[in-house]
Amino acid sequence: MKRPFVMFLMLFINLIFYLMLPFVCLGDFHVTFLHFNDVYEITPVSGGAEGGLARVSTLYKKLHKENPNTISVLGGDFFSPSAMGTAVYKGDSLAGKQMVDVLNAMGLQYATFGNHEFDIKESQFKSRMAEAEFAWISSNVFGSDGKPFSGVKESVILEFTDNDSEKTFKVGIFGITLPVNKPDYVEYADPMEIAAEQIAKLKDKCDFLIALTHQNINSDEKLLTLYEEIDLLLGGHEHVNYQRWRGGFTPLLKADANVRSVYVVDLRFNPDSGKTVIVPQLVPINDTIAEDPEVKTVVDKWTKIAFNSFLSQGLNPEEEITKTDEPLNGLESDVRTGTTNLTSLIAKSMLIPYPDADLSIYNSGSIRIDDVIPVGMVTVYDVIRIVPFGGKVLKAEIKGSLLKKVLDQGNTNYGSGGYLQYAKVLRSNRGGWIINDIPIDINKTYVISILDFLASGKEQNLEFLNPSAEGFKVIKDGKGKDIRKLIIDEMKSGLVQ
Ligand SMILES: [Zn+2]
Repeated sequence: MKRPFVMFLMLFINLIFYLMLPFVCLGDFHVTFLHFNDVYEITPVSGGAEGGLARVSTLYKKLHKENPNTISVLGGDFFSPSAMGTAVYKGDSLAGKQMVDVLNAMGLQYATFGNHEFDIKESQFKSRMAEAEFAWISSNVFGSDGKPFSGVKESVILEFTDNDSEKTFKVGIFGITLPVNKPDYVEYADPMEIAAEQIAKLKDKCDFLIALTHQNINSDEKLLTLYEEIDLLLGGHEHVNYQRWRGGFTPLLKADANVRSVYVVDLRFNPDSGKTVIVPQLVPINDTIAEDPEVKTVVDKWTKIAFNSFLSQGLNPEEEITKTDEPLNGLESDVRTGTTNLTSLIAKSMLIPYPDADLSIYNSGSIRIDDVIPVGMVTVYDVIRIVPFGGKVLKAEIKGSLLKKVLDQGNTNYGSGGYLQYAKVLRSNRGGWIINDIPIDINKTYVISILDFLASGKEQNLEFLNPSAEGFKVIKDGKGKDIRKLIIDEMKSGLVQ
């Protein structure tokens, strides 16, 4: 219900803006921002109907033609995770190499870090930073030595000059990332404290101040409320679009993940009055926009490299598995808060190798597709996108008391990757657990089919489930089955149709 209203509101704002255009002074500065965030796939998504960086590139070129003062910014999360990023090329996984190359081809200008930039190994991260031809703005992320990573600026000031009047318009941008993903090679400073520092440094040097952020919406709203010096917030991290306003004048904008949409922000500044008019427009990226052939060539190159890698792992990405007559829902907001037809299909597939298992169980965070596979043909590549990290399905024995603790914690992990998915498990109205139609017996030992990651002790808040946990034993009958191949088998059995 929210979206039609927002769309209507935006149309209304745009209409007012264009009606006002004749009254805008000729001496005004006009700057356009193209903003996007959380992009994992270089190709279109939703079965080709939405997204695709080659389409964004077409829009960017058009905007640039209309207004040479067009600036592109990316609000973080693009090195990882993706299906293509797991493909092996020249002895290492791509780990975002394909994404950086495509963003370079598009001519992206500025980016800030998202938490997923630090999913990859330090050596891979350093390579990606060296390959990136765009500039980085980050005020609160540092290397383990406490210094900014090479080539990263804590802020930038963009200066636009009117040749006739010699008047200038200065736009300051600082970058903030939520401090949640911390491998050894990364240090964070407190986002709010650093924002205060940056604002103090920049406010007298610029006419307009932008916070380019990657943090949750509540933190972004807090940032805007605390610091009225911020004139525009361009954000990321959420995968759905947001448009919120502080006092009706200062917008907080986020676009949809995987460039299902981008934000185009028109900014007019009057140097005499010092006043600015901001008009944001959420632009859907879909098949009505042609793909930029130059960028598409680069996208196709990496797609081919990745597909060859999957072929060498025994997975033919282009192989057609089955036709689905219902959309398969792998949206992160749904799989981390409940069950969908896709989460159930995966849980069921895990029972194939162990038909005697009392239940199957896995962490929802292993599903990374964040997309809906539309009605029609499902390919092996879709399965790689569903579980890009793969994983082995193991047979294990678990004491009822420990199983109950695991299931309870799974519920507590609502909204995160440790939210659990299962087959042959139900929650009764009174909150108890029903296993294979019988209430859980804490003294019984259950046979389960479990994904190796969940059994390893690496899942957040579920570390107590690990190979040395009392009452838990992985049965070493072979090395386990590849989850991707089991999903393919389950789909082939025709249960999807
Ligand atoms: Zn994020």
